[in-house]
Amino acid sequence: MTEKLAFVNPATGVQFGEVSMTTPEGVKQAVQEMRQAFPAWSQKTVKERANILHKLQRVLIDAKDEISEVLNQDCGKSRQDGLLELFIAVDMLVQYRWNAAKWLKRKRVHSGLYIFKRCYVEYRPYGVTAIIAPWNYPFTLSIPPVIAALLAGNTVVLKPSEVTAATGVLIEKLFSKVPELAPFIRVVHGDGKVGAALVNSKPDYIFMTGSTATGKKIMQTASETLTPVALELGGKDAMIVLEDADLQAAARWGAWGAFFNTGQTCMAVERVYVVESKYDEFTKLAVQQAEELKSGYSTEPNSPYFMGPITDPRQVKIIDDHLKDASEKGAKILIGGKKNEGGMFYNPIVLVDVDHSMKIMRDETFGPIMPIMKVRDEEEALRLANDNAYGLGASVWSKDIDHAKRVADRVEAGSIIINDSIAQFGVPMLPFGGTKDSGFGRTHGEEGLKQFTRPYSFAIGGAPVKIDIATILREMGHYRLATLIMGVLYGTTFKQKWEALTQFFKKEQKESSASKVKSEAITTK
Ligand code: NAD
Repeated sequence: MTEKLAFVNPATGVQFGEVSMTTPEGVKQAVQEMRQAFPAWSQKTVKERANILHKLQRVLIDAKDEISEVLNQDCGKSRQDGLLELFIAVDMLVQYRWNAAKWLKRKRVHSGLYIFKRCYVEYRPYGVTAIIAPWNYPFTLSIPPVIAALLAGNTVVLKPSEVTAATGVLIEKLFSKVPELAPFIRVVHGDGKVGAALVNSKPDYIFMTGSTATGKKIMQTASETLTPVALELGGKDAMIVLEDADLQAAARWGAWGAFFNTGQTCMAVERVYVVESKYDEFTKLAVQQAEELKSGYSTEPNSPYFMGPITDPRQVKIIDDHLKDASEKGAKILIGGKKNEGGMFYNPIVLVDVDHSMKIMRDETFGPIMPIMKVRDEEEALRLANDNAYGLGASVWSKDIDHAKRVADRVEAGSIIINDSIAQFGVPMLPFGGTKDSGFGRTHGEEGLKQFTRPYSFAIGGAPVKIDIATILREMGHYRLATLIMGVLYGTTFKQKWEALTQFFKKEQKESSASKVKSEAITTK
């Protein structure tokens, strides 16, 4: 009997549907079908693929209300936040449609010493791409990588998160509405077992967004078949508030970055470091902001609630554990907390008296908590910001942009935003991804598209031409001539180049007199 995956609204606990989990055989079959479909899709031009994706864009816009409704039920987030997921996906789709042909164009490169050859790089698709998605933004973190993989010429098997399976089913339906696209994408449904089956079914490329622990497992399995992987993993983003920051703006948008999507954002503001002189004022303003942000659930298009519930029940345990650990070690909650014992809702929490011995400052919390730490100066802020295994994003606040940039440049992260928080993800032309334990994949931007390709290179020319430097180097007996060429071409000073010339001619003379003596000796014998 096939296992069922229930759709449960985390805000109400009410089941609103179900889907059958894809069996291991079903996963294999999906990969096989996509392998068979690959030649037909990859042979289309980028423009043809972009035109087909234009039709998907129409389908997505038509379905905007349905998308926001399903996300509202599946994640508990507001309808407007659901719509925002679609915005980010469509904005990226538009930019990619406009730019993909230019980015993927065959590129001529310098032919080096082979002066009679023409050399090119082409960006070719891998084949079947497996895309494994998380639950926190189930639409935004599925559609853009799928679009990038398809535009690059790959066929796709998508595995949405089991926590937000209804969104996965909706995505499958939306793709099926574009008949020219439907044969080139499959959606498999299920939990980690289904994800593991997909990884094991030998796709040609794996793009995964999720936790660091799962990313490591996937990479381990992929290493068996040397399947390339891109991993977009967790984060513990720092926010640094410098002395010359606009504190009102920092508190307003810092709180937004900490509490948006109930803190369930890989690049949420998870730690705030404020210089001593501004700490009291910033903290007061942050509390005021938290006070204004209400949590609750509404199915109306305009919800009065900024925060919905925690989407994944497993996450509640982590948040509560981090809070307990912090309290036991001396942290103080200034505002917020659990709304109802055993429930999935919190009011935004501002936490102070925190330090790096606490889980809340070290591990990913993925919840609506803004821990604020007082630091002596920016040096201490930087040291603490970098004292973490993750390196996804960060934000720096200062009215002096040069100052902010100098500080930002020293933060170990894949992306930085100055005087705002988390918004860099919404810029489709900016490649987004991490460093350190946050992984190494990129989504968005030219890099996010090229990631789904392998560079294929070729050189064209007639048979080797004798006067080509590279041909001279290939022929035997040219050691000294090669040293001359090396010295003249690559000598870093005039002296080095000159010495190469004089040594060559000196040796030439010596050799010819030596061979004269030798031949005389042979004749006198
Ligand atoms: P997760 O790692 O539990 O699951 C992610 C996906 O992997 C799911 O589809 C899951 O079913 C699948 N999976 C689980 N075990 C698997 C296995 N052994 N083999 C293959 N697939 C497997 O993560 P999550 O809880 O869904 O998402 C939250 C995490 O994602 C957080 O750590 C968050 O920071 C991270 N995240 C990162 C980014 C980013 O862009 N860097 C964006 C969003 C979320």
